[in-house]
Amino acid sequence: MALSKRITTLTGGGSDGWDVFLRARKMIAQGTPVTELTIGEHDIRTAAPILQAMHKSAIGGHTGYAMVPGTDALRDTVARRTMERTGVRTTRDNVLITPGGQSALFAAHSAACDPGDTALYLDPYYATYPGTLRGVGAIPRAVQTRAEDAFQPRARDIEAAAAGARSLLINSPNNPTGTVYSQATLQGIADVCKAHDLWLISDEVYDSQIWEGAHISPRSLSGMAERTLVIGSMSKSHAMTGSRCGWVIGPEDAIEHMITFATHTTYGVPGFVQDASVFALEQGPAFEEEVGAPFRRRRSIAQKVLEGQNTVGLIPAQGAMYLMLDIRATGLSGDDFANALLDAEHIAVMPGESFGASAAGHIRVAMTIDDTVFEAALKTLCRFAEARQMAVSP
Ligand code: PMP
Repeated sequence: MALSKRITTLTGGGSDGWDVFLRARKMIAQGTPVTELTIGEHDIRTAAPILQAMHKSAIGGHTGYAMVPGTDALRDTVARRTMERTGVRTTRDNVLITPGGQSALFAAHSAACDPGDTALYLDPYYATYPGTLRGVGAIPRAVQTRAEDAFQPRARDIEAAAAGARSLLINSPNNPTGTVYSQATLQGIADVCKAHDLWLISDEVYDSQIWEGAHISPRSLSGMAERTLVIGSMSKSHAMTGSRCGWVIGPEDAIEHMITFATHTTYGVPGFVQDASVFALEQGPAFEEEVGAPFRRRRSIAQKVLEGQNTVGLIPAQGAMYLMLDIRATGLSGDDFANALLDAEHIAVMPGESFGASAAGHIRVAMTIDDTVFEAALKTLCRFAEARQMAVSP
């Protein structure tokens, strides 16, 4: 039977950039130890008290259908956290609870775009973005950012792509680059959105992981609350990736329609997961800092290792759990470097090209392994890069 074009062309064809990751997994399965620096998953598990809260709720009977928009308690708690962090008036009517940020991205784009509409996103990008945009029937249009700007987008570049578009998707702190958008960057983005009547979809799932500067939610900028849909998640801030709990924050009428959308797609999030999320959020910012602390520490370790050499360039990670390394001095593409590093040193990293053309000649390193192993792997990576550079320009 023929399948729909929408589903068969979701990834746009070609390599989806996960070859190195899959090869590493295969090597591990065959008994070869590989140092894995590929995936954005904490090396800690969900904290026991959060799981105990989940257990208590489930045993207490919260195992039936939960309210589709989210429980009042979780919507109120998310609204409060948003107000405390951004100053923007937010109530439960501005919040839809979703099964993770990924589902929130899909709901938000479904609300913003009709089939055939152009949806903008910034390159380099989180791997699922173009597929999510195609999934709602929109036409993805990438706007390049530049390594020389430390991947801060230029408003002029977005402006040049904005004619006829319906939406713009941004992500700060950014996966894969670690860039945190400055006030000036966000103001420029807000101005373009207002001038071209775009929805701004602001993926803020890393908002608790800031190592330098401050997180600014563009919903707080003048005239933006009415056209911004913020994506949030328990995954990164509370090490709850497997619980699948996230949210969209937006204008009341948009949320109202997205609730109807959720009724016909996900039908909500398990009640015991929502109760555990309320408990987790009630632990406050100190707990979120604790979850992010290993990445802050490893970022400092990486800075020290990279200071000692000139081959590998570090785009300073201002936030999130990744490092973007510039390996152009080796003469290799990110893809070739990552494959050669896996073969020679059994270290797996993501080729920059997996995240779009703007990250060509770079690799993404996830800071998600033990400090000592992480430091040793980075030193090996640098030595490997130096040897390659010597081979091309002795
Ligand atoms: N946005 C970004 C930028 C991400 O990196 C991720 C997960 N890696 C997500 C959204 C989705 O996360 P989740 O569905 O687990 O909330």
